Amino acid sequence: MTLTEGTPQASEHADLDDLTYQLDRAHVFHSWSAQAALHPLVLAGGSGCRVHDHAGRSYLDFSSQLVNLNIGHQHPKVVAAIVEQAQTLATVAPQHAVRARGEAAKRITARAPDGLNKVFFTNGGADANENAIRMARLHTGRDKVLSTYRSYHGNTGAAVVATGDWRRIPNQYARAHVHFFGPYLYRSEFWSATAEQESERALHHLRRVIEAEGPSSIAAILLETIPGTAGILMPPPGYLAGVRELASKHGIVLILDEVMAGFGRTGDWFAFDAYDVVPDLITFAKGVNSGYVPAGGVIIADHIAADFDDTVFPGGLTYSGHPLAMAAIVAALDAMEEEGIVENAATVGRDHIGPALAGLAEKHEIVGEVRGTGVFWALELVADRETREPVSGAVMARVKSELLARNLLAFTADNRIHVVPPCIVTPAEVAEAVAAYDEVLGLPD
Ligand code: PLP
Repeated sequence: MTLTEGTPQASEHADLDDLTYQLDRAHVFHSWSAQAALHPLVLAGGSGCRVHDHAGRSYLDFSSQLVNLNIGHQHPKVVAAIVEQAQTLATVAPQHAVRARGEAAKRITARAPDGLNKVFFTNGGADANENAIRMARLHTGRDKVLSTYRSYHGNTGAAVVATGDWRRIPNQYARAHVHFFGPYLYRSEFWSATAEQESERALHHLRRVIEAEGPSSIAAILLETIPGTAGILMPPPGYLAGVRELASKHGIVLILDEVMAGFGRTGDWFAFDAYDVVPDLITFAKGVNSGYVPAGGVIIADHIAADFDDTVFPGGLTYSGHPLAMAAIVAALDAMEEEGIVENAATVGRDHIGPALAGLAEKHEIVGEVRGTGVFWALELVADRETREPVSGAVMARVKSELLARNLLAFTADNRIHVVPPCIVTPAEVAEAVAAYDEVLGLPD
């Protein structure tokens, strides 16, 4: 943003930043935070891969906010579609038919595998998983849900219990959730030396968990196709196909959580497009309309949808399938198609992000592993390459603030930097971000 004549002076913009900050600290209770220590960054606007404050300081957004901004900030077609829908019919209850909802579901199912033809819309990712679990339980008449320790599935009743990572919160309503270890070669629970071994041993472990729990008690296996918040853990060869085989053998519903990985982030429409697997239920949110208006959903296989032809499905919220969210989905998916945005994520990831991050790993001892695809990458930082001991929280806090000092909005989790720009990112923006990572990773201890 440039400050031009006729606009308020820089000092007035700085005042606006200050006012925004004061209002936030006085009245806003933030998620996932101890309130007293918070210093939220003030943001006033954005465009493409950049955001800025009122005073005109601009940041390169390599976080995609919460890894939801696949199409970039303020895409004009998506903004216009929301405005147009708001002017026509700003709200419609889920029980009525509205054109935008049907158009959104048509576009989503067109990209799903054959045999998944219906969409149940939700307000976000957690309630998508919540409803997928409910569908699986009703479909099978079974109770248990298996999910991995390293996962994030959302922060509502069943979704947070399915979540295996550090965010897991004791929940009195939890029942029948079982966790297992998914593959993670760099920190293998299975003493694997190769990706093939990791796959084979993780499948063996899952097979044993299923046997021990009793296959006829298990309703669903819920997996992020590529666990995201837990580390961008690329599934080794054969793993997802092996899980599919186990699920089919025992009549277990396979739910793939594509909330973070879906709709372009991996360089495909769905992350599982790169693997030999067809799920029974797919949950999605974030990238489907880049979060311009909250939306998520479950894509349902015909054989499960048919259960509810004559039986009520007991799920839904007042705003499920909200027309503004639906209009944003239609416009976002059309723009992604027309502008080749998914292909861009694939090529920029393959030709620029991957090689540049590999270069950082060669140069900086602190980088233990680089992994990812598309615009979905992790740099795992270690105190010692031999032992793979993760760097401390203090080191990560410094990394994040030094990146911000270089005008880069970074996504960090545990001992990792997640390199997750919008799918529209250009090679020049990648080079700019990599220069900041390079400087910060090279700072003296
Ligand atoms: N599933 C995955 C894989 C996620 O990454 C997230 C959020 O980060 C969720 C579910 C929850 O989505 P929401 O925050 O929209 O409820």
